[in-house]
Amino acid sequence: MRQGFLAFALAAAGCIAPLSDREDPRVAVGGSSALAAAFVQVGAETGVPAELLAALSYAETRFEIVDAHAHGHASLGLLGLSPEELAFGAGLAGETDLAARTQAVAGLRAGAMLIKERAPGARSLEDYLAAFDDELRDELTTLLARGVDAGGVTIAARPSLDRTTGDGGFGSVTQALGNADYGPALWNAAYSGNYQTANRTKVDHIVIHDTEGSYTGTISWFKNASSNVSAHYVIKSSNGEVTQMVKEKDVAWHDACFNTTTVGIEHEGYAAMPDKWFTEAMYVSSAKLSAYLADKYGIPKERGFIVGHGDAPDCSDHTDPGPGWNWAHYIDLVKTGGAPMFLAGEATVDGPITLTSGERTTVTVTISNSGNAAWDLDATRLGTAAPQDRESAFFVDGDWISTNRATAVDAKVEPGATGTFTFEVVAPEVREPTMYDEGFQLVQEGTTWFGPEVHVVFNVVPEGEDGGCSAGGGGSGASACAMLLVGALVSRRRRRRARGL
Ligand SMILES: [Zn+2]
Repeated sequence: MRQGFLAFALAAAGCIAPLSDREDPRVAVGGSSALAAAFVQVGAETGVPAELLAALSYAETRFEIVDAHAHGHASLGLLGLSPEELAFGAGLAGETDLAARTQAVAGLRAGAMLIKERAPGARSLEDYLAAFDDELRDELTTLLARGVDAGGVTIAARPSLDRTTGDGGFGSVTQALGNADYGPALWNAAYSGNYQTANRTKVDHIVIHDTEGSYTGTISWFKNASSNVSAHYVIKSSNGEVTQMVKEKDVAWHDACFNTTTVGIEHEGYAAMPDKWFTEAMYVSSAKLSAYLADKYGIPKERGFIVGHGDAPDCSDHTDPGPGWNWAHYIDLVKTGGAPMFLAGEATVDGPITLTSGERTTVTVTISNSGNAAWDLDATRLGTAAPQDRESAFFVDGDWISTNRATAVDAKVEPGATGTFTFEVVAPEVREPTMYDEGFQLVQEGTTWFGPEVHVVFNVVPEGEDGGCSAGGGGSGASACAMLLVGALVSRRRRRRARGL
């Protein structure tokens, strides 16, 4: 049985002092997707915080209803539950198994009841988090601390949770603990019956897999005595964290009949959703690992020696990592040792610029990707600039990730393509017409700020006034004052202050 989040630390619930919530957002889960409303609804019905349900769904499935099977275990529904978890939770919630695996609200109800069952007496978000096993708790805490903006769902950032995870965890590859062969990897041993102890010195191929499940779920599965599968390395989608589970000298069971002289690398994600899971951070981290292995064992840095599970001379029918894996980019990174360049070129801004206090509108910024690294839905964000990380007066609770992060990129942007960043603004209260010069810049979270500073100039007029324009027939301040539209100024000044790493 897959452990998933059934493996709770029972004694921990309720034992952690509540953190201050002063910095926390009023709207925990927002966005245009119907899923945002589903998280809020089931949160209200069950008492399990909506942001926890949303973060769990993001961690396990990236807000998709999945029905995936790999390595002998399944991930089902919006929360990626194992069949056993799903059946148990559905029973508690009074839902059918079929509804829980195919419908959003029913699946969330099943997951929420399962969480309540495992966290008796929990009342606060911290209480509930304390009831998850260590790896998944850390993952959820990190997601909640820095927020999520993907698929039309926004989970507001909770910086106050940062103190429970040190630096927030994102973008920082933790240094080796224990006995990893590879310096940057965490060591977390697979169950000893899931691989063959050996004394290998020869490795001639690297096999690339994807997990068809989450990072934490995969690690649990390889530690499970009944799984009979393992891989040497597992890589996390959001930040490229590497966990080693089997020593390179030993034979991991990752490929039905191509294990003897190979190293297997598992990549968190689903082959059917490459843009959501195969992030730049993961490509870069995996390429560094493959480059290290290639150098250590004298393996050519080419396809044919670095192969997909689906390409390997295997006796199974596996096809991972599937056609969505960008082999050309990956091999390129392996050859250069994994060196991404985040660069941006032309930027444009549209949208109405003159607003009445309290008026809400949508701003779209488009920027071209002139580097060699893709921009990710989750990690590439539009941050406030001039100065960096300032709190914006135009922040919209429930739409922005935080007061200094307007939005994440709307969709994955490959090098050479143009990305859009769409977000709402609400004009602040003013007593007289006031001009605001709002600066923004791209940030690859945990890695770097990059690209030009983009300036959006807003002319805000007080409510009930028209800022000196004569409104023709009760028009809004915005339409009456179109003449005052100042337009957007884009400065090409580049700032590349490295951050985090
Ligand atoms: Zn595989």
